[in-house]
Amino acid sequence: MRVIVLGGGVVGVTTAYQLQKDGHEVVILERQQQVAAETSWGNAGMIAPGHSFVWSSPRAPMILLKSLVLKDQALRFKLSADPRLYSWSWLFLMECTAEKARRNTLLKHRLAVYSQSVLQEVIADEAIEYDRNDRGILYFYRSQQALDKGVEHMRLLESDGQLIKVLDRDAIVALDPSLASAKEKIAGGIHCPTDETGDPAKFTRALAAKVVERGGEIRTGTTIIRIETSGDGVAQVLTDKGAVKGDAYVLALGSYSPLIAKTVGISLPIYPIKGYSLTISVGNRPAPPTVASVDEHNLVAISRFGDRVRVTATAEFAGYDTSHKPADFAFMKGVTEELYPEGADYDRAEMWAGLRPMTPNNLPEFGQRRLRNLYLNTGHGHIGWTMSHGSARITADLIAGRKPAISMDGLLN
Ligand SMILES: Cc1cc2nc3c(=O)[nH]c(=O)nc-3n(C[C@H](O)[C@H](O)[C@H](O)COP(=O)(O)OP(=O)(O)OC[C@H]3O[C@@H](n4cnc5c(N)ncnc54)[C@H](O)[C@@H]3O)c2cc1C
Repeated sequence: MRVIVLGGGVVGVTTAYQLQKDGHEVVILERQQQVAAETSWGNAGMIAPGHSFVWSSPRAPMILLKSLVLKDQALRFKLSADPRLYSWSWLFLMECTAEKARRNTLLKHRLAVYSQSVLQEVIADEAIEYDRNDRGILYFYRSQQALDKGVEHMRLLESDGQLIKVLDRDAIVALDPSLASAKEKIAGGIHCPTDETGDPAKFTRALAAKVVERGGEIRTGTTIIRIETSGDGVAQVLTDKGAVKGDAYVLALGSYSPLIAKTVGISLPIYPIKGYSLTISVGNRPAPPTVASVDEHNLVAISRFGDRVRVTATAEFAGYDTSHKPADFAFMKGVTEELYPEGADYDRAEMWAGLRPMTPNNLPEFGQRRLRNLYLNTGHGHIGWTMSHGSARITADLIAGRKPAISMDGLLN
C-alpha cells in the first residue's frame, strides 16, 4: 500500500519506518523544513517507563485549583476563552478517580515497556547515533516523607515489572558523583536502572534518513489544510502544495491532530500543554550529570546528551502559544545550577518551548476512526518519545490487520 503519514514528529517518523518495514510505500507530510522540529525537538529525551504515572490522578483537581490562585512554577493553569479548554478539562477531571488513575497508569506502563523493547530492536537493526545514555533515570526527593510516599507510589509500577532501586543520599552520590555538592539537599531517590535517555530529534532525523534511503518520501515545507473524503474513506489530503493521495492515512500531528481531524468531523480530545526546555553546552565544566534525573520536588527533569545538558519543566495551559521569554526559564535554570554547579556552561543556554499533545486519560489514540482508511497515532502527551516506537509498531500491525504484540484492551477505543 501507499501510506500517507500526516506529521513528521517522532510519532510520524517511527510510524513511517515501521510501515516501510512491512513493505509499504510511505510519504510523510511535514510543514516544517525538517522533521522533529516541533515538540519532538526539545523534550527531555527520557525513555521512561518508570515515569508512566498519569497526570489525571486524584491529586490533580486540587493542584489545578490551587494553581489558579497561587503562582506555581511547575503547573500554570489559566482560564481562557477557549471552549476546548473547558471540554478537555471536564474529561480530564472525569479521569481523576483513584481507580481510573491506576488503570490508566498500568495501561501506559504496558505501552511504554513494549515501546522500549521496540526501540531496542530498532537500535539493533540500525546504526543510529543519538547520544544514548543507558544508566537509568534517578527520581529523587528532598524530604524523607516525600521519598517514602514516592516509593509507595512506585510499588504500582514495580508490581507491573518495573525494576526499581531505592537509594539513600550516599548511594545517589555514588551513582552520580556530579551530585556531590547537592548531597545534603537530597533525602534519597528511586533509580530505575532500565530507563534510559537519548536525543529525540537526533534519533528521529537519523531514522528519517533511513526511511528516505529505502525509497520513502518526506515532503517537508508542506502544510496540510484538510482531509477530503469520498464515500466511507479518505480520498486525499489537501496541502498548500496540492493534493496527496494514498491507500491509507495515519494522523500523527501531535497537538494539531484535532484541528485536522475536525475537517472530517472527527473530534479528538487532545489539548496542548506547554513545556519549556533549556539545552546547555557542557563546555569545559568538570562535573556534568552522568545519569538523568528528575527532581520530584521541583518537577524539573535533567538529561545529558553527549556534550549538552537538556533541562525541562512546567506544564502550562496557553493554547497553541509557543512563545517564551528568559523569565520562563529562571526557575529551572536555578534548580539545575544548584544541583550541578559545575555541570554546564549555564550562560550559554538555548531556550525552547513546545506543546505536549495531552489526552484526558494520558493515553494515545490508536486505530481507525469513522473512515475506513484513516488511522490515528496521536495524543502521546508527556512521554511520547517513550511510547512512540511501540505505538508505531502497533499502528503498522493494525494497518496490516495483524494482532499487535501487546494486548490492546483499554488502549484501542
Ligand atoms: C517540555 C517537554 C518535555 C518532554 N519530555 C519528554 C521525555 O522526557 N520523554 C518522553 O517520552 N516525552 C517527552 N515529552 C513529550 C514528547 O515530546 C511528545 O509526546 C512527542 O514529541 C510527541 O510527538 P508527535 O510526533 O506526536 O508530535 P510533534 O513532535 O509535535 O509532531 C507533529 C508534527 O506535525 C507537524 N504538523 C502539525 N500540523 C501540521 C500541518 N497542518 N501540516 C503539516 N505538518 C503539521 C508539526 O510540524 C510536527 O512536526 C516532552 C514534551 C515536552 C513539551
